[in-house]
Amino acid sequence: MSQTRPMDHFAGSGQEVLPSFFEAVHAQFSRAADSMGLDAGIRAILGEPANEIVVHFPVVLDSGALRMFAGYRVQHNNVLGPFKGGIRYHPSVSLDEVKALAALMTWKCAIVNIPFGGAKGGLSMDPAEFTLSELQRITRRFTYSLQNFIGPERDIPAPDLNTNAQIMSWMMDTYMIGCDVENRGAMKHVVTGKPVEIGGSHGRDIAVGLSVLYSVDEYLKLSGSKRSLNGMTMAIQGFGNVGSASGVLLGEKGVKLLAVSDHTGSIHNPKGIPPVELRDYVRSHGGLSGFPGADAVSNEDFWKVKTDLLIPAALESQITMANVDSIDTQLIVEGANNPISPAADARLLDRGIPVIPDILANAGGVNVSYFEWVQNKNSQTWRLEKVMEELEFSIRSNLRLIYRKVRPGSVDFRTAAYILALERIASIYKLRGIFP
Ligand code: NAD
Repeated sequence: MSQTRPMDHFAGSGQEVLPSFFEAVHAQFSRAADSMGLDAGIRAILGEPANEIVVHFPVVLDSGALRMFAGYRVQHNNVLGPFKGGIRYHPSVSLDEVKALAALMTWKCAIVNIPFGGAKGGLSMDPAEFTLSELQRITRRFTYSLQNFIGPERDIPAPDLNTNAQIMSWMMDTYMIGCDVENRGAMKHVVTGKPVEIGGSHGRDIAVGLSVLYSVDEYLKLSGSKRSLNGMTMAIQGFGNVGSASGVLLGEKGVKLLAVSDHTGSIHNPKGIPPVELRDYVRSHGGLSGFPGADAVSNEDFWKVKTDLLIPAALESQITMANVDSIDTQLIVEGANNPISPAADARLLDRGIPVIPDILANAGGVNVSYFEWVQNKNSQTWRLEKVMEELEFSIRSNLRLIYRKVRPGSVDFRTAAYILALERIASIYKLRGIFP
């Protein structure tokens, strides 16, 4: 893998050439590894995923036609514990994308100090094109293809983009059916993000929103900001699981939602958009388009809305050199994975706009997934209050550790977060050594 610097990603025309997702994430890793002088051997191990699994399988659609699907599961590293990471359904899913997301999971688990390694998976397709019964058959057949690679102590999937608790139920059920009868009951922690009725954890559905909330609040305290959340303003891109939970939870703390954008368009209301009403509208209409409590604006204008907080919570590479200079905000919190291109990230640093990175801000998802796994292993059900208390401690305490590593001019917040993750992983390799 070549070493890339943010400004290398410009063609002669001045047009930004986006690196591949894995290249972008690898460049972040390399920056931290350089900065901390990471051992060359450990750097080589962490530079590539341990396993890359590609499956192709057929499903008969409702029409009777047969369609082939391509599915991926990348297991990046498991020195800390079983592989762990979401499953996304999206046309953009590719081996490169899943490799990048799997690596991000390794860093995330290390940052919140949970005994999991990083993995990610996905299907390259648009779930909106399929009926519910087709989606069930696709999910079951995909799980069947992965049966020998996943498991409660091996690799544990969870929801991500366009997947949810229902998809996790089908995955769990399919995996269990493939196990010996006497062991089936002890297998429900093969996936997390399940409905509470079948072993899911309270709070998993709002977990990323909670980590966004705790990160922002702790960051404001540490940075000596005179502002509190109450009275601030925000804009959110993406109003699915992550975006809506962030909007609702920050809204409850008095942050006014001024603008929202999703795959159906963008809306703006200077007087404020009610997050709960918008979440319910999006759930019943499949998108925010037509929401009566705000004006429709162009996607271009969405990025220009002046706010205190901007939360990208949709896809990768959404803030690029094409829109970074129109952004007018005080703090960016990455709800989505890798929403900022490397060059735009460098520009934000120059402009003095701080970014709380994905590997901390959205780690609430995997952190509460770990709580779910622990509850399943011990046949327990934790109260929501306990889940929130444990998560809050984890996010705030690890954010403080990261903050202490920031060195203005040399170690930015993202690099500091990587350094914390890499220090923890390197210390385990040092103790365990390399087999044989
Ligand atoms: P989701 O499917 O629930 O919601 C995705 C949102 O993005 C939707 O509002 C959709 O309209 C919007 N979107 C899609 N394409 C868009 C486009 N081109 N322009 C603008 N908006 C667009 O997904 P999610 O679970 O909320 O995941 C969002 C991000 O958060 C992803 O990067 C995911 O990897 C990350 N993440 C999710 C979890 C989790 O537990 N769900 C955990 C950590 C990180």
